[in-house]
Amino acid sequence: MLKTYYNCPISDEPVHEVLPRDGDFVEFFCPTCGQFRISNKSITSMRRRSRSEREAMLTDARRDAQGGDGIPLIRDSHSHARKTDDQR
Ligand SMILES: [Zn+2]
Repeated sequence: MLKTYYNCPISDEPVHEVLPRDGDFVEFFCPTCGQFRISNKSITSMRRRSRSEREAMLTDARRDAQGGDGIPLIRDSHSHARKTDDQR
């Protein structure tokens, strides 16, 4: 297989998966949403959210990416419960 197609987790249209899911996240290039990365966990949970919620998360991730490499990374923790110390 030369290309992998997937539905955009934000706009739900067919997009090209830029990077294989070999790590914690997948990178997509969507004609509507642009280039972004999303964690594997978030891909699943995003589908239960409304379109406007998902777009808000992408907007958030874009803002966070301004100082980094410029590619937004969507993680569930953005709009979900903040990280707590319950690990220990
Ligand atoms: Zn999209």
